[in-house]
Amino acid sequence: MSSDQELLTEQLQILNHLHYTSLGMLYQGSEIRTNRDNRDKRFNAEIRALDTVAVLLTTGEPNDVTAVTLDKRGKLELVIAKNRCPTYADDAAVRNLISLLTNPAIDDPEDIFPSIMTYCLKNINKRQLQLHESLSQFLPTVKQVLQQYSPSLLPTDDELPNLAAYLCFTHSDPTMDFNDIIVNIFQFCLTHSQHPLDSNDKDASYKAYSALCLGAHVLSHSQFLNKLTCDSQHPTWQQEAQKLKQRLLKVHQYCFGIRPLVLRVNRLFQNREIPYRWVDLSVIPYYGEKKPFEISPSFKEALLHVPVMDPAQTVQNIQKKHPSMFQQPWLSSIHTCIHAEIQIIIDLNPPTLSTQSSFNCNGPQEPRAIGCSERSCFCCTAWIESFNCQFSTQWRTSGYHNKPYTNWALPAVAYDMDGEGKSRIDRDVLRKVEIELVDVLEQFSDESGRELERSITKESLKKLKAILSGLQPYY
Ligand SMILES: [Zn+2]
Repeated sequence: MSSDQELLTEQLQILNHLHYTSLGMLYQGSEIRTNRDNRDKRFNAEIRALDTVAVLLTTGEPNDVTAVTLDKRGKLELVIAKNRCPTYADDAAVRNLISLLTNPAIDDPEDIFPSIMTYCLKNINKRQLQLHESLSQFLPTVKQVLQQYSPSLLPTDDELPNLAAYLCFTHSDPTMDFNDIIVNIFQFCLTHSQHPLDSNDKDASYKAYSALCLGAHVLSHSQFLNKLTCDSQHPTWQQEAQKLKQRLLKVHQYCFGIRPLVLRVNRLFQNREIPYRWVDLSVIPYYGEKKPFEISPSFKEALLHVPVMDPAQTVQNIQKKHPSMFQQPWLSSIHTCIHAEIQIIIDLNPPTLSTQSSFNCNGPQEPRAIGCSERSCFCCTAWIESFNCQFSTQWRTSGYHNKPYTNWALPAVAYDMDGEGKSRIDRDVLRKVEIELVDVLEQFSDESGRELERSITKESLKKLKAILSGLQPYY
């Protein structure tokens, strides 16, 4: 009999497989959601600063996702986790960043960027390339939209913040009309995002990158793009605009995220020392590098394990409608890890030996920010929501994209154990993944065609949102 982890991994792999082989839009674009609470400016500023720290401590290598928080229980301390085990180079990067942030002579991105460039180069170039792709794809749509667009009657600096700085920097004609300005900024960003940065010429790289960031800043804060991200009348434009906005913000995080971070560090750590530690997960038995394990050797065999009404019939229906899905490569050897944001929560809320309550928690708690180098996945979102619901905590990351990552490891920590000695928080995640998978599969195997498949996908996402917003424990 398969373990909970094997069952979960296989189900996540099926969801991934459906995503990669269908032309539908499962889990893409429009599902990026922010957790920022606009009413709480201090909390938003903290999570933004922590997000920037996490990004500055991420290489861009596969599976290098970083999460950070501030342990405020005693002396303020930075706590850091990665999806993988940290290396000496990672620790050196932390010390380097701290020495930069606490250096009184430094208050500008220009002072920090060349130093962090070597460690973060891959991630910076990856983000820049993704932005370039989005800009190229979206430009034809933008030209089409501009034909019908009327700028709001706001002052120009509200419609296009920092436009004056952009026009001055690019020596552009300040008398251009609105449509020409938008196309001009798009083309400027396209040009400046086409070449990867070169760590051998850091000054030139910084100049090129900061120019791109200026264009990205104006565009990402423009009313024009904001309106498109909210335009539910045109879902395709809306999705593309949301994706583009995310990518613009991700790129300019390396420039515009730094100054507020330095100011915050100066305020919080006036003695110019930032104590830090990596998470300590010794509370988890067998924690450490997890060995790869095997799931079903084929997509078809994995489908037969899903508890739909009639698994054999479901397989037959999907095979008939989507034969290519059964030809695509299927990964059966899986390496899992406890995702970084979950490690942070476990570290800050170590479970006790009691089976009734997992840690000393006295009623509702203040929101607690976890900065992440990327948005939270489906399982992390479900686990954090369930944990918060169960223990009245308010752990928050800055947002989620809801992708079902196959490498997600069940923490299997002794939180709120059931009669079988299993964590109810983990069980919530297992249950939510299974509900989603059964729902998606039943609709995939429906007799109708692709158009229906797309609309049903939206329905299933609605259901998913309902599950994730309600998140009542299932017992
Ligand atoms: Zn995750």
